Amino acid sequence: MKLTPKLFRSYASKNIRDPRLRQTYRTATSHALEHRSRAVREVPEWEVLRERAHRIKEEAINHLDHYLEKLERKVMANGGKVFWARDGRDASDYVIATAERIKARTVVKSKSMTTEEIGLSHTLEKHGLETVETDLGEYIIQLAGEMPSHITAPALHMTRDQIGRLFSRKLGIDYTDVPEELCAFARNRLRQKFLAAELGISGVNFALADTGTIVIVENEGNARLSTTMPRVHIAVMGLEKVIPKFSDLPIFLKLLPRSSTGQKQTSYVSFISSPRKPGEMDGPGEFHLVLLDNGRSEILADPKMRESLFCIRCGACLNTCPIYQRVGGHSYGSVYSGPIGAVITPLFQGVETAKDLPYASSLCGACSNICPVKIDIHHQLLWLRQRVVEGKGTPWQERLIMKLYLAGMKDGTLYRFGSALLRTALTIGGRRFQPLKVPGWTETRDFPPLAEKSFKQLWREMEREENRP
Ligand code: SF4
Repeated sequence: MKLTPKLFRSYASKNIRDPRLRQTYRTATSHALEHRSRAVREVPEWEVLRERAHRIKEEAINHLDHYLEKLERKVMANGGKVFWARDGRDASDYVIATAERIKARTVVKSKSMTTEEIGLSHTLEKHGLETVETDLGEYIIQLAGEMPSHITAPALHMTRDQIGRLFSRKLGIDYTDVPEELCAFARNRLRQKFLAAELGISGVNFALADTGTIVIVENEGNARLSTTMPRVHIAVMGLEKVIPKFSDLPIFLKLLPRSSTGQKQTSYVSFISSPRKPGEMDGPGEFHLVLLDNGRSEILADPKMRESLFCIRCGACLNTCPIYQRVGGHSYGSVYSGPIGAVITPLFQGVETAKDLPYASSLCGACSNICPVKIDIHHQLLWLRQRVVEGKGTPWQERLIMKLYLAGMKDGTLYRFGSALLRTALTIGGRRFQPLKVPGWTETRDFPPLAEKSFKQLWREMEREENRP
């Protein structure tokens, strides 16, 4: 089933009642947070690094046109090809045209949220290309026909017995829930695909404008195999992944793995600057870089939301978010879940389509505190709420109540008259009708009972009492 952010409330209320799912999320996110804390404690200058990373991303995003053009020139000078894709369709068409030109039948893909965002695998499959996700988590959810439930751990919502049953059902192996056996089986299967594939597709963690290099950070080695074994490699990156220079990279290589998995460094960091050069033994004969916009230019033009483009997709804000921990990733109805998903999904898909997501937050600020690039996530959620309220996303009853409230707060006489009227209405014939029921609001929270006497009445009574002879 294709999920949609429109149905956040119904997915969330279903998932929150599933104790097994909540336990799975609780265990996974608390482990991730423990590992992160340990790794961060080892870096006394952590806050300085966060601040510097923020400034680097600010520089890159504020001069995005300059750095992207520089990157393009460098990639082309290194022998690569660059394609600017306005949206997912543009990017998919380019990949399909390349696959047709080289007569590819099998495509191997490494983990990439950007290609998830545009549903690239489904589009390639529809065009008859066998498309295999090679990251273990992505492989699992591809078999299950599901969306990722976490930015860095796509199958986080599944237990190992569920994965064992899935492998048994879909791949015809004997049931096992032993992780090593499941991994070994997946590895054998995927090896055959790496050997057969003509086209490899990857994402990009960072693109270095001054050298034309893309950097891929991973733990399984599948990205390196996907980018080196097939004849052609296409990397798809969101425009925001560019950073100005090579010397900026070490800061991000310190922040990203610690924030996402609590590692000092991931097992593999691949630097790709060009296709195979004359005399080299291996590597793809062609290297293509697809620069995907897909709504990023509009975010760039929006001064309040621009900062969301700083995201390096570490997933830490998901792990720490009390809402994500309880409702789970699929509730968001988007490949991007958690606090950053609640920010960028409405920006990508429209506030009308995802109007509940900015409310999927307690505004506690834990997301902003943990973010390695210091994105002010919870204020962005607040600004999006303002847009929901100002747009068509609010029911007319709520808008009317807010207008009356505003008028009352601006005018003392109206306020006194309104509160006296409400107090009288709630106390008819000596009987108090409380608590109030307000559709949507009091389903999950109490409406505080109105005090029998207003503050002003009480004050007057107190004064009378004091002045009594
Ligand atoms: S918003 Fe910050 S914490 Fe969340 S995924 Fe992006 S970089 Fe990580």
